[in-house]
Amino acid sequence: MKQISIFGASGSIGQNTLELIRRDKAAYEVVALTGDQNIAQLVRDVNEFRPQIVVTADEKLRSELGEALTNTDCEVAAGSEAIAEAASRPTDWVMSSIVGSAGLVPGLNALRAGTTLALANKESLVAAGPLLTATAEQFNSSIIPVDSEHSAIFQALMGEKISSVERIIITASGGAFRDWPQADLARVTPQQAQNHPNWSMGQRITIDSASMFNKAFELIEAKELFKIDEKKIETVIHPESLVHAIVGFCDGGMMAHLGPTDMLHAIGYALNYPNRKRLDIERLDFTKIGQFRFFEANEQRYPALRLSREVMRKGGLWGAALNGAKEVALDRFITGDIGFLEMAIVVEVVLNEMDRAGDLGLAADCLDTILNADASARRLAGLINV
Ligand code: NAD
Ligand code: MG
Repeated sequence: MKQISIFGASGSIGQNTLELIRRDKAAYEVVALTGDQNIAQLVRDVNEFRPQIVVTADEKLRSELGEALTNTDCEVAAGSEAIAEAASRPTDWVMSSIVGSAGLVPGLNALRAGTTLALANKESLVAAGPLLTATAEQFNSSIIPVDSEHSAIFQALMGEKISSVERIIITASGGAFRDWPQADLARVTPQQAQNHPNWSMGQRITIDSASMFNKAFELIEAKELFKIDEKKIETVIHPESLVHAIVGFCDGGMMAHLGPTDMLHAIGYALNYPNRKRLDIERLDFTKIGQFRFFEANEQRYPALRLSREVMRKGGLWGAALNGAKEVALDRFITGDIGFLEMAIVVEVVLNEMDRAGDLGLAADCLDTILNADASARRLAGLINV
């Protein structure tokens, strides 16, 4: 039986992961499940999957969770330290699907425990890519990408040498406002930004898709995961979201990965790697699809893409600052404090101010340094008036 843990079990990726476990229950033993405020979901999942431990990130909700589970022998804990401790418990496979930089320490602890880390939490790679990949190497553990584009690249690279790669093309749906005139973007509401045309995902990543911060993060994610030069990483708008990524090789050949817009595929690939298991999801019918369209992703329209280029070129703590500032800018947009286009302005001002102060030069290879840069970026992003 394969032992697994899911960090961020109550979210969109976490629930999709549990759906795969549900379809083949006898093959898995669930060690830890974690969530935040959705206690009802955690209780349902504990009753169904019987983990050894369940943790809510919110300490105020510990007693509510404990009281709902008095009839089980599941250990109940709360707080970020308890999540970090649960991530250190030995398992074969861990899903890292907490949203935001709260996923960083659990991911690191799982790697230190020698576990295979299925990584959906792209924020931890943006903030701390060099630390995560060095930790995986040091503890002989592995990171399997779950983001659909990176799972696609990972699959297209099977049996290939990274030195033969000429370019990596990551597709972008264009998000909720792909066809809106630029002038209308200033008036976008959080409600409107929460509707993704193709994928069903958590609230934050859906808004990040509309602003292209999600794609900006994915470019950095590709650089860190595949150790590839930033100049070789491209993005194009592909409204159908059926070609997830394309890898171009030095002999002119290209490998594209295609599939339905269903995260079960990428999660299942990471769960079964290096094998494949039959999965009941939609099969593409090309005669019905008719055409695949590709358009330039304009950096003028999407400043997040321009910022990610700068972050990739500069390295150091630029990624940690980008992520921290973006998380606060996104909070401020969701609460109505700033407008849709102002998120990128806040992030850019934070990066420039921290750069001017000389705060971004150190390497992202030490947790404390990364967390300090993250905290400074958050503080500044909360203060900037736009
Ligand atoms: P979600 O909002 O649906 O779920 C987030 C999970 O994180 C929940 O379980 C929540 O309880 C937990 N969480 C939130 N704040 C926390 C905190 N401070 N401490 C501990 N746990 C906390 O998000 P999602 O869409 O499932 O995305 C999860 C991650 O996967 C993100 O990093 C996202 O970028 C990435 N991702 C998601 C998709 C997708 O299809 N949803 C695709 C690719 C990558
Ligand atoms: Mg993606």
